[in-house]
Amino acid sequence: MGIGIVGCAGRMGKRLVTLGSETEGCHLSGGTVRPGSEASGRDIGELAGVSRLGVPAGESAAELFRASDVVIDFTTPEAASENAQLAAEHTTALVVGTTGLADKQKSDLEEAGRKVPVVYAPNMSLGVNLLSLMVERVAAALDEDFDIEVLEMHHRHKVDAPSGTALALGEAAARGRGIDLEPHAQRVRDGHTGPRKRGDIGFATLRGGDVVGEHSVIFATTGERLEFAHKSGDRDIFARGAIKAALWTKGKGAGFYSMRDVLGL
Ligand code: NAD
Repeated sequence: MGIGIVGCAGRMGKRLVTLGSETEGCHLSGGTVRPGSEASGRDIGELAGVSRLGVPAGESAAELFRASDVVIDFTTPEAASENAQLAAEHTTALVVGTTGLADKQKSDLEEAGRKVPVVYAPNMSLGVNLLSLMVERVAAALDEDFDIEVLEMHHRHKVDAPSGTALALGEAAARGRGIDLEPHAQRVRDGHTGPRKRGDIGFATLRGGDVVGEHSVIFATTGERLEFAHKSGDRDIFARGAIKAALWTKGKGAGFYSMRDVLGL
């Protein structure tokens, strides 16, 4: 299977190139960098810090889609929504791990999912997808006497907050409780906030150092507290998940899929 990597010079892009080049059943059909980037034309293997792969980094996403069976995107929300249109145009499957998507950008992915298989997941790791399943079940078993709080920490370079994973965990909790997240989400607290509103789902964000990603979901009531946590020590868990998702799209019909579909959870 020919796998193309958009944003191949990014933190995730480099790991995708490295692991993609080692995975049986696939070959790298190409990689792109941001137009005008100094990495343009350089070998994607050398950019990733592995051996030379004989594949130069390009600037044309359209060419990459034409040359690939599936494209993996860990870039920016703007690029992800442009890539969704290209995926539909070139009938190429798409796997998106980019976070911070606005509603319109997410619906661009859903739209592409009417024509080709699109897998979208703000977290591609097995552990976080299991955590989300557990959170949904626990939230379904507990009532509003339990306050739900989602805490996350990431490295200092992360640009969106709360993390896509934290929001997805909040959504899982809301689904379990049978409510919509948006009207119940308390994304920021500052100053004289008054007491906690019953039924809210709170978020707290920490940023610092090189933390790859840590998430906790806390269910707290009077006298007891349940805490579920996941800690990522290595970006490869996301890259491996994305490659697994890319291979999974083979032979699949059009659709908007999640990692739960890929992992059979
Ligand atoms: P990064 O900034 O290191 O990499 C992004 C790369 O995309 C950069 O090299 C940038 O130049 C490139 N890029 C941007 N626009 C482009 C375009 N139009 N064409 C080609 N390249 C383009 O960031 P990162 O840490 O690799 O994370 C990227 C995204 O993935 C973020 O949204 C992050 O939150 C998300 N992420 C998701 C998961 C997951 O499991 N779903 C895991 C880690 C990171």
